Amino acid sequence: MTVNFSNVGVIGAGAMGRGIAQIAAQAGSQVLLLDSFEGAAARGREALLAQWQKLHEKGKLDAAERDALGARVQAVDSVQALAGCDLVIEAIVEDLEVKRQLFRELEAAVSASATLATNTSSLSVTAIATVLKQPGRMAGFHFFNPVPLMKVVEVVAGFKTEPEVCTRLAGYAAQMGHSAVQANDTPGFIVNHAGRGYGTEALRIASEGVADFATIDRILKDQAGFRLGPFELLDLTGLDVSHPVMESIYRQYYEEPRYRPSPIAAQRVAAGALGRKTGAGFYRYP
Ligand code: NAD
Repeated sequence: MTVNFSNVGVIGAGAMGRGIAQIAAQAGSQVLLLDSFEGAAARGREALLAQWQKLHEKGKLDAAERDALGARVQAVDSVQALAGCDLVIEAIVEDLEVKRQLFRELEAAVSASATLATNTSSLSVTAIATVLKQPGRMAGFHFFNPVPLMKVVEVVAGFKTEPEVCTRLAGYAAQMGHSAVQANDTPGFIVNHAGRGYGTEALRIASEGVADFATIDRILKDQAGFRLGPFELLDLTGLDVSHPVMESIYRQYYEEPRYRPSPIAAQRVAAGALGRKTGAGFYRYP
């Protein structure tokens, strides 16, 4: 099987970028991993090698496959190093201006035929693409955390996205073992729009003193069938990622009161209690 994109750049070697790099390599693509934080791309690659080594030890990957996967991922340190990529997926900080600046530099570095994608959770794909000379080549490619396990990805068409770009990305998602859902460019797309009813409303229930975090999590898991309660999910994602998403969707819907972010989340962000990654969020992680 020929993979839809044989040379893939992934920008941002954090939680999402690493996961995307992993499944891209597993699909058979050569992957270049880039991060602006010194050493982060190399650490991201090391984490992938450790992941594949673990799968090898569990008997799920033979030594040759493990080595071939490792050889398919390289850390690079400049956007110019992505010149030969036929697809670049951006997974950096959720900030419109920072993403727009990156896409400006990226378009100048890659060929005119390269496809560009953003893993943004909530920002407008259309607004990011306005900085491009060829906005039609860009789409949202929104994965979920942890990427190798969460098998759905939203393929998001911006206002000017060419339909073939979405078709090709959906085909590539299938080659990665994921199933693509097509969505139009609206704040939060499908999952993070529907998720306002889960996360934001749970925060409101807690802040009104109706019940504590653990009780709300327990009832939504036991009675509504969710795998993680809203506070467990917020702690897993990290409030540094999810609070900006709440703020962005609220702003984009003209301050619709239903989407208003919660002061109890903002307070934790200010205190650096972001969730699992900092050892405390809504729960403590010793
Ligand atoms: P993260 O903080 O784990 O990683 C972001 C990485 O991007 C960091 O390593 C940082 O050094 C790097 N970076 C920041 N600015 C950069 C730049 N200008 N150039 C290159 N690298 C840069 O964040 P994450 O959780 O991986 O999220 C990344 C993106 O994916 C965000 O847009 C987020 O909204 C989206 N997203 C996150 C989740 C989630 O649950 N974590 C789910 C879906 C989508």
